[in-house]
Amino acid sequence: MQQNTFTHPTKHSNSPSLITGGGQGVGLSVVGGGAAGFFLAINVKKMLPELDVTIFEQQKKVLSKVEISGGGRCNCTNTFAEITDLKQAYPRGASLLKRLFKQFGPKEAYNWFEDHGVPLVVQDDECVFPQAQDSHAIINCFLNEAKQLGVKIKLGTKISNAESLLKANGGNSDYVAVTVGGTPSKEGCVPSLFTFNINDSALKKLMGTVVENAIASIPGTKMRAQGPLLITHWGMSGPAILKLSSYAARHLAEQSYKSPLLINWTGESNSEEVRSHIIYLLEQNPQKQIDNVRPFNLPARLWDYLLDKASLKGKRCSEIGKKGTNRLTELLTNDTHQIASRCHYKDEFVTCGGVSLDSIDKSTLESKFTPNLFYAGEVLDIDGITGGFNFQAAWTTAYAVAKGIEGKVKNR
Ligand SMILES: Cc1cc2nc3c(=O)[nH]c(=O)nc-3n(C[C@H](O)[C@H](O)[C@H](O)COP(=O)(O)OP(=O)(O)OC[C@H]3O[C@@H](n4cnc5c(N)ncnc54)[C@H](O)[C@@H]3O)c2cc1C
Repeated sequence: MQQNTFTHPTKHSNSPSLITGGGQGVGLSVVGGGAAGFFLAINVKKMLPELDVTIFEQQKKVLSKVEISGGGRCNCTNTFAEITDLKQAYPRGASLLKRLFKQFGPKEAYNWFEDHGVPLVVQDDECVFPQAQDSHAIINCFLNEAKQLGVKIKLGTKISNAESLLKANGGNSDYVAVTVGGTPSKEGCVPSLFTFNINDSALKKLMGTVVENAIASIPGTKMRAQGPLLITHWGMSGPAILKLSSYAARHLAEQSYKSPLLINWTGESNSEEVRSHIIYLLEQNPQKQIDNVRPFNLPARLWDYLLDKASLKGKRCSEIGKKGTNRLTELLTNDTHQIASRCHYKDEFVTCGGVSLDSIDKSTLESKFTPNLFYAGEVLDIDGITGGFNFQAAWTTAYAVAKGIEGKVKNR
């Protein structure tokens, strides 16, 4: 193979003109030049400077998703301060990550970036971004590190059979790490993190309305998600909906993305509390029009929409009565909608499914069937909700593979 030439990265370029690697000593081929591939290559090269590491990337440029992630700012991890159980953040892969976080978790990732010249900031919602508010801070860090360490990068090279790179299969590599990301169209894989199309013209008129604390759920299942909800011109979006799409990714795929959806607009899951609050408001304001007595600080347009649905618009509070109170309680806590189809959220979209976690070693992520073949990143059956959790999974699994390869090389 040819010797690598590696141009210095500039702020707006993640297309270093790169040729190829492959050398005389022990070699690792990393298939996929994304977040996991780079993090793995850099870390393993730090652990084993003699290891000949080459990243193969099918596109003409590397780290494309990192570049567009987080609206171009790259939400690279999360403090996990609001996560009490990893299953909340990772509908799939939580127990494996729990184990791997002991080795390299969010704190280690945070420190890694800071130690490598990427100062970070924590937002109020616990999401972590580069202080520069620019994903190129991370891209440039990775490209510089890779260059300094002598990681070779081969662009425009699609590897259709990663196993064939292994020496055992006639290839040149002692080890192969597959970091090709997710493909929702692959067998057994479905999309996660999407928003819902809802054909309700009255609802769509509320476009732009944000409810700070809603609960979205799929009736007849335990799938529910709480958080801000945004009404859009196509239906519903926002963290509560994205989270629910992640929890219900497989279920919704099975239903061809046509499913009833329940919205609790109050964030209060005990409907008796909601009923008591309504009764209190009605008793306190008997002469007022119900239109002007908004419970739970709901946006005025949404309250108007709900009153319209309940046929209570324009009534005085004293006229609402028991039936009206029941109707309002039901609408506030169990407002039924119909998901007509899914749509792609423009900021984040991941794959639910991938390489089965039963097929890999739980510590090193080496294939149980093909020795010296490792997997990291979204190619695995691990995916998270929005908030930096998916990149954290990429850093953690990439680091685990780097350690796994280090262990194998040292024991050769
Ligand atoms: C628009 C968008 C925004 C996002 N924002 C965030 C965010 O802010 N925070 C967060 O945590 N997550 C975010 N995500 C999710 C996150 O980007 C992914 O989870 C993460 O990139 C996965 O890293 P990866 O290295 O496993 O895969 P990828 O980043 O997808 O990298 C895989 C690489 O492998 C290459 N490749 C694929 N097949 C081959 C092949 N056969 N041969 C050679 N190369 C191949 C691909 O071209 C690609 O470069 C976002 C996703 C999207 C789509």
